[in-house]
Amino acid sequence: MNAQQATQQVLFDRQLIERYNQSGPRYTSYPTAPHLHEAFGVREFRDEVLRTAAEEPQRPLSLYVHIPFCDTVCYYCACNKIVTPDRSRAARYLQSLLREVALQGELFGRQRPVLQLHLGGGTPTYLESDQLHQLMDALHHHFRLVDDQEGEYGIEVDPREMPVGSISRLRQLGFNRLSIGVQDLDPAVQKAVNRVQPLALNRRVVEEARAAGFPSINLDLIYGLPLQSERSFLQTLQQVVETLDPDRLAVFNYAHLPQYFMPQRRVDPQQLPAPEEKLRILESTIRFLTDAGYLYIGMDHFAKPNDELAVAIRQGILHRNFQGYTTHGDCDLIGMGSSSISQIGRIYAQNEKEVEPYYQRVDQGELAVFRGLLLNEDDLIRREVIMRLICDFQLDRAAIERRFHLSFADTFQSEMSDMQRMIEEGLLEEEGEILRVKPAGRLLIRNICMVFDWYLRNAQQKKSFSKTI
Ligand code: SF4
Repeated sequence: MNAQQATQQVLFDRQLIERYNQSGPRYTSYPTAPHLHEAFGVREFRDEVLRTAAEEPQRPLSLYVHIPFCDTVCYYCACNKIVTPDRSRAARYLQSLLREVALQGELFGRQRPVLQLHLGGGTPTYLESDQLHQLMDALHHHFRLVDDQEGEYGIEVDPREMPVGSISRLRQLGFNRLSIGVQDLDPAVQKAVNRVQPLALNRRVVEEARAAGFPSINLDLIYGLPLQSERSFLQTLQQVVETLDPDRLAVFNYAHLPQYFMPQRRVDPQQLPAPEEKLRILESTIRFLTDAGYLYIGMDHFAKPNDELAVAIRQGILHRNFQGYTTHGDCDLIGMGSSSISQIGRIYAQNEKEVEPYYQRVDQGELAVFRGLLLNEDDLIRREVIMRLICDFQLDRAAIERRFHLSFADTFQSEMSDMQRMIEEGLLEEEGEILRVKPAGRLLIRNICMVFDWYLRNAQQKKSFSKTI
């Protein structure tokens, strides 16, 4: 079975899902972000940048730029953002952001090609068109962004903030990937989460994006929101596929954690679908989307067979980083803006989370790193194991042995009994040195990865994570 066939199948096994439905990380990194610590700062960040640049001066870059502002709050929100109608705050933010772009540009140099750029938030389109223009000019000035064919330059857009003509302006600015937050199309659900965004509005934005020549459009949906049912969500999916026809879909599970996320306190828990109904929504979503021709990429993501993510699976080059799945795992990732996280060589580094300390640091001509982590050898081995499982749905144990000069059986002695149990339960199968995730195990990929997570095994910290399903 090749990698593409391997990912086409996903089996909803209710019994297994109920048995494994516990809290766990989404593994956009390993170790996960809570393990970053404040003993790591700018000096450690700079040292690693210089070390990796000396080792591989042409190593490509991926840039993430965080814009933390939103006009109104969505009640399901778990993001780092500032909700304000006062647009002058964006101008203040941009001032410091441009300084940080210059500082990072100076450190990394213009010789390294930028293959990927992503503007996320918050709501990046909170910035006015001329502000986005300034930002893109600065990025072009301080970094070497490659041409439209080679580079993947994406932005998250909120259709409620996109007047006619604004999408084509994004294309003119150099963006060629669009990610649109839709969440649900049922007017009652939209009202219950304070995000009223009718189908006609979404359609206008998607049509404008296609006319402007955006080659790839991603839509985000969420299941588990108040007032949703299997029937209502199927209707949303039908409208999405028939009317909007995205190249890629992310269908996230709403995790109701009002103790951590203030906006969620405005969600009426009585209106949330019961766990049974949520499972039915998930089951019918998978069936509907795969019947509609989408491939299950893994971890909430679906893509058309010719989408880059699906192609990356066929080529065995799918990766995962702080922005989720990516086709550019060979890049160092520079996060810019408050709260953003960089991944360079053996380190992760996060900027100040709140805007005021971020302004202070950057305005003094200093990078805004406030915490981070230098991965040790064991972290690096486990990161590779987890990334291969989550991206390829299989693990070549011999490849890990060759790469890290170790014996897999000796290194993962205590993990083997969990693996064996998962094999007996039908989540995994062995074929020589290959450990393969079976169709029934694919929805439980987080649980499988958790077996190799040293930190979880040694400190029961699972509670602050969302449920795996
Ligand atoms: S969900 Fe997105 S648009 Fe809504 S408040 Fe959160 S960050 Fe802003």
